[in-house]
Amino acid sequence: MALFERSEDIFEDENVLHDDYQPQSLEERDNELDQYTGYLQPVINGSQPRNIFLYGKTGVGKTAATKYLLHHLEEDAEQYDDVDVTTIYLNCEDLTSSYRVAVALVNSLRDPTNQISRTGYPLNAVYEMLWEELDSIGGSVLIVLDEVDYIGDDDSILYQLPRARSNDKIENARVGIIGISNDFKFRDKLDPRVEDTLCERELHFPPYDATDLKNILERRADRAFESGVLDGDVVPLCAAFAAQDKGSARQALDLLLEAGDLARRQNDQTVTEDHVREAKQLLEKQRIEESMKDLTSHGHLALLAVVSCTVANQEDVPLQKQTIYEQYQDLATATDRDPLGGRAFHNHLAELSMLGVLERTKRNEGRAGGIYYEYEVDVPLDAALSTFEHLHMSEELDLDSLRKNARKNGLI
Ligand code: ADP
Ligand code: MG
Repeated sequence: MALFERSEDIFEDENVLHDDYQPQSLEERDNELDQYTGYLQPVINGSQPRNIFLYGKTGVGKTAATKYLLHHLEEDAEQYDDVDVTTIYLNCEDLTSSYRVAVALVNSLRDPTNQISRTGYPLNAVYEMLWEELDSIGGSVLIVLDEVDYIGDDDSILYQLPRARSNDKIENARVGIIGISNDFKFRDKLDPRVEDTLCERELHFPPYDATDLKNILERRADRAFESGVLDGDVVPLCAAFAAQDKGSARQALDLLLEAGDLARRQNDQTVTEDHVREAKQLLEKQRIEESMKDLTSHGHLALLAVVSCTVANQEDVPLQKQTIYEQYQDLATATDRDPLGGRAFHNHLAELSMLGVLERTKRNEGRAGGIYYEYEVDVPLDAALSTFEHLHMSEELDLDSLRKNARKNGLI
């Protein structure tokens, strides 16, 4: 008997739900696409491309819309003999300095047999190579720097590229930059001279609402699933969950994919609302595990302290810092660690809040009490508990009784 057999009951083509699938149309972004098209129009007119800065939270269609428009731009430019467009797409996630971006650009303009290595050249030499490549290709060159905030402080390329022509570094090419970012604060961190040029035209993609998400999912689900396997409530529920959270199409699609996958793994014939709810819990657990991976042991203990206080006394929630801190000190001692001081400990609570694992509420008690923060767990307790069970220090902590008490108090 075969160990693997193709299962064909649920999905017709699950790739359609994956992140890298390029949708044929993006109806929910009509207005933004109109504006974006307008900003790209100079390219077709054969004039200097604008630099565009596109921002919005994760999963709102920034990458999909950009690829969609650039594809059309290249295609439509073909009918004009005097318009010559080259587009280069780079995701900066692994390109955390100007040097790396410049090398990646040189290599994407060069022949695969003539690539340069990622180290060993002075930055100026790489820039020289880049100007040479840009000039030899000529015409309009649009460079997309997706997730551009990863470049960090070392952002000289964002200054050099848009000025290359006016600084006489290149002659034949007209360069336009499209910077994309989820980080709203990125703009403020830029050198004002960089900001002026990079953000010449600005475009914001707001979160999707439940109706948008429902329409997006319906179009994708139609191609992804066999007909008739989706219960009527499934798509609206995925859309509603994602809309309540961040309004991210990526999150909605992930949820639908996971729900379908659960149905398949459980050998069910249809995908139901229950699958969606179960998928939501699973994905949430993964998200916490993912964000917890990078925490230090004190970060883990800080979170565990919040969980322990919550289990010990529901009345105390949301919790004051001092209550959490005392619990944390006990946990640190129990695991043979020197507890951190109050300020360093506070930083861990702030980090956990930023990751969305804790919710932080600001209290203002006026002159008498001043301003302080209160904390509570913002992820399912069950998921938080099971992530602790995978930590190397779990043996020194009495997680079993914590879980037992959580169950007794009806928290899980
Ligand atoms: P961002 O770059 O803003 O993080 P993406 O463009 O990668 O988001 O979109 C996330 C996922 O959602 C992708 O799979 C994308 O195809 C899909 N998506 C986003 N907006 C739409 C839309 N309007 N119609 C269809 N699919 C969309
Ligand atoms: Mg993106």
